[in-house]
Amino acid sequence: MMDFIPVNEPLLDGNEEKYLTECIRSGWISSEGPFVRQFEEQFAARMGREYGVAVCNGSVALDAAVAALNLGQGDEVILPAFTIISCAAAVVRAGATPVLVDCDAATWNMDAAQVETRITSRTRAIMVVHIFGLPVDMAPLLALAEKHGLKIIEDAAQMHGQTYCGKPCGSFGDISTFSFYPNKHITTGEGGMILTDDPELAARCRSLRNLCFKPEQRFIHDELGWNFRMTNLQAALGVAQLERLDDFVLRKRRMGERYTALLHGTPGLQLPLAKTAYADNIYWVFGLVLDDKAGFDAREAMERLGKLGIGSRPFFWPMHEQPVFRKMGLFADDHHPVAERIARRGFYIPSGMALTTGQLERVVAAVKDILR
Ligand SMILES: *Cc1c(COP(=O)(O)O)cnc(C)c1O
Repeated sequence: MMDFIPVNEPLLDGNEEKYLTECIRSGWISSEGPFVRQFEEQFAARMGREYGVAVCNGSVALDAAVAALNLGQGDEVILPAFTIISCAAAVVRAGATPVLVDCDAATWNMDAAQVETRITSRTRAIMVVHIFGLPVDMAPLLALAEKHGLKIIEDAAQMHGQTYCGKPCGSFGDISTFSFYPNKHITTGEGGMILTDDPELAARCRSLRNLCFKPEQRFIHDELGWNFRMTNLQAALGVAQLERLDDFVLRKRRMGERYTALLHGTPGLQLPLAKTAYADNIYWVFGLVLDDKAGFDAREAMERLGKLGIGSRPFFWPMHEQPVFRKMGLFADDHHPVAERIARRGFYIPSGMALTTGQLERVVAAVKDILR
């Protein structure tokens, strides 16, 4: 039996161990340790932002972003139907109303053209989510935000090192957020970051992250915050990983190019776009969508791949088809045919940083095998 190829395996063979050892030897393991500030400053600088606020994951980074912008009851936030639940959950938990748009069939990113049609007098923000390695077309959305006085929350959780027209993803939002989960381009195990250029928003995110302790009277609170703090151990990993971001982006691009070259022309498969007018793909994951020539769906494909020792994961399930939101009475009249189709026919194959060429070739052979 051949070894199982997991869908993701991170690379931790730089300074990760050295910096972690420093934490342990110095005794600095909590969020008070020096790596946290260092990671915040270096990550913000790398993304071209003034302020970085490290948090314990990318989902809570969105919760803090929504709270920091004072979005709540009566406010509408436009976001893609095709994304992780964290995006809509942050809006719903704040008491605001999520309004969905479908995604583009080729890039799988939110369709910028649909956003304008969903703007009402109650719209307060657009939550932009860059999906799978290609950025959302920002120019029309930035113009809409300007025209209608809307805030932009930019979820760049899958976009470390990507650019839109040469400018870093994560530099476009009033608030931008990242995740450092192990399948992201750089990882801290669990972790996230909030970026902004606005000193007041940065201070508010810092306060919300830290239970809204008052600096002068620690245990007196004017507002409810959370404990969203990142530990020094996580930040130590982050500093080490950030040193390698350029190399990691290169590796992912090479992996994507190799997969594309080997899978190109396979009947039944739609491959990720290699590029758009504004960016080259960084292949957060290498996604595949079965077209009508494949006589089965993603679930069947993943099961067949599993039998051949290949790990895979389904695409996101659309927000308007989530039982939890339907029970709340949300999205009752929503239809987003592209998101619905790619959710059923899309899955991604092993594309972690540690994937070897030999493993990649085995994955390709297995994909061709199940489609034969
Ligand atoms: C991974 C991810 C998140 C959530 O990050 P976690 O660190 O797993 O909480 C949010 N948004 C997008 C687009 C993601 O890919």
